[in-house]
Amino acid sequence: MVAEQPQPVVTEVDAIVVGAGIGGIYALHRFKQQGLSVLCLESAAGVGGVWFHNRYPGARVDVESSEYCYHFSPELFGEWRWTERYAAQPELLAYFNHVVDRFGLRGDIRLETPMQSARWVPHEARWHVATATGLHFAGRFLVMATGNLSAARDPDFPGLADFAGEWVQASHWPDRPVDIAGRRIAVIGTGSSGVQTIPVLAAQAEHLTVFQRTPNFSVPARNGPSDGALIDAIAQDVPGRRSHLLATRAAITSGQNPLLPYAAYTEAERTSRLEWQWAQGGQGMNRVFADQGTDQLVNDRVADFVRAKIREIVTNPAVAEKLCPYDHPIGSRRLCVDTDYYATYNRANVTLVDIAADPIERITPTGIQTRAGHYPVDLIVFAIGFNAFRGALDRVDIRNERGATPTGGWQRGPRTLLGLMTSGFPNFFFLTGPGSPSVLSNLVLMNEAHVDWVAGLIAHMTTNGYDTVEPDRTAVEAWTGTVAEAASKLLRLGVKNYMVHVNADDGSRVFMPYIGGLDRYTEIMRDIAANGYPGFRLSQLVAPNQTAAA
Ligand code: NAP
Repeated sequence: MVAEQPQPVVTEVDAIVVGAGIGGIYALHRFKQQGLSVLCLESAAGVGGVWFHNRYPGARVDVESSEYCYHFSPELFGEWRWTERYAAQPELLAYFNHVVDRFGLRGDIRLETPMQSARWVPHEARWHVATATGLHFAGRFLVMATGNLSAARDPDFPGLADFAGEWVQASHWPDRPVDIAGRRIAVIGTGSSGVQTIPVLAAQAEHLTVFQRTPNFSVPARNGPSDGALIDAIAQDVPGRRSHLLATRAAITSGQNPLLPYAAYTEAERTSRLEWQWAQGGQGMNRVFADQGTDQLVNDRVADFVRAKIREIVTNPAVAEKLCPYDHPIGSRRLCVDTDYYATYNRANVTLVDIAADPIERITPTGIQTRAGHYPVDLIVFAIGFNAFRGALDRVDIRNERGATPTGGWQRGPRTLLGLMTSGFPNFFFLTGPGSPSVLSNLVLMNEAHVDWVAGLIAHMTTNGYDTVEPDRTAVEAWTGTVAEAASKLLRLGVKNYMVHVNADDGSRVFMPYIGGLDRYTEIMRDIAANGYPGFRLSQLVAPNQTAAA
């Protein structure tokens, strides 16, 4: 006799949100407000998403705090006071916890409950979700709020298993004290994370060795106390401010205006714009001239300006030269925003190793062996980035009724409609996905825009008796073409970085985020909603009186 398997207890909700970070917290709140039953699954021991995990020394946001915060609630905006122009990780984490408590969301979030698998069951029009902790849920909608830069790239250097010291990942910095003072430390990776943590580690370490494969352009943050008067002024009209931000290219407005092409300025004005932006600090260096992203000569002028600053700051000319990027136009990879990054290389306890010229061969029990030498270290910090865009979707087992996975058809780059849905996956959303402005924009506002749009679509379905939505394949192909067209004239398309997918067969490139601007993008989303969701197939799979859990 075969023993009867116990049936799992399935908890039914309207929407299952995966991830309690920026997007997940707002989705939970917004969906609850419209009367849906919602559950949020979170693998970590706390809320905050990237701001829970990225607790490396020096971690702070590189978009100004007055913009990098929720704008959906004027009350929330008005009551929170940022202490710094660019908030540090602990303050961001406190903020997201505050939001969760203020809106009564904590009870709807299951911490330390990683989603393991999801299956679409068409005759129920439900997603069935299983967690690694053995729980089962069923929901009409499955919303992945798992981020684009959340699945860390794991270090696979030979010999790492035999390293006798300690190693950590910047993006999953342990939630316990890590000794820095008096230790010999290596940092591998010089993207935004490396650039932020290097000066802080150098100030405490006995010695810091930085292993740089590709230099990036970095500009000073000019961090300082937040501008209370500015925040008070915004607080007078948060809805107006929110609409304004969503009608800009990236919801990042610090910098200079009006933005004209290079040719529109005299030589003296060009120099003064560059100097002003350097003194001002921040991402505005991407927007000194309107055509710096499309005209190589204009870009060269901005890049030359920043390289000259690097040479001014770094006293050893050979080190300065190693830090100067020549292989990519400025702004074609994410611009780093730092505090004392270049000056750190003037410290006697800091060494820069150019691993493009002298590659790492292996990790030894006592340090790092490059082709030319051995660097003894006690602690290795890997700041080597993420499996961007699809990493968070690929690490869980999501399948439709044919057994396909959402990214299974993405061999030649992501295929999405609006960067929110893909064909063959009904009622399945991924917030800020590839094909949306995503990482090119202020991700708090970007998430708000996506969640609001999905909430509107769900309301439309409820009103009109639909239980299922899925993008048409032709609409997905058309949007994928729109995303490609928007990037086609950009200098950055030719540059290797996590935003560019390189096709394995012919080496052709696909720029994954939509670079047409958040302003244009939100207009398109609004038009689609106003016109009854063309490109999205709305249907009723289950008769109204049929019980869902048949
Ligand atoms: P990243 O920009 O992808 O940088 C990874 C770095 O590791 C690069 O320098 C890369 O070199 C290097 N690397 C990767 N694999 C390597 C290997 N096998 N050997 C040696 N070096 C290797 O990652 P990230 O710094 O974590 O930043 C990712 C994104 O997260 C940022 O662009 C930003 O959007 C976001 N972020 C934001 C903040 C903030 O708001 N303050 C902070 C941190 C991160 P190559 O360039 O040669 O590949």
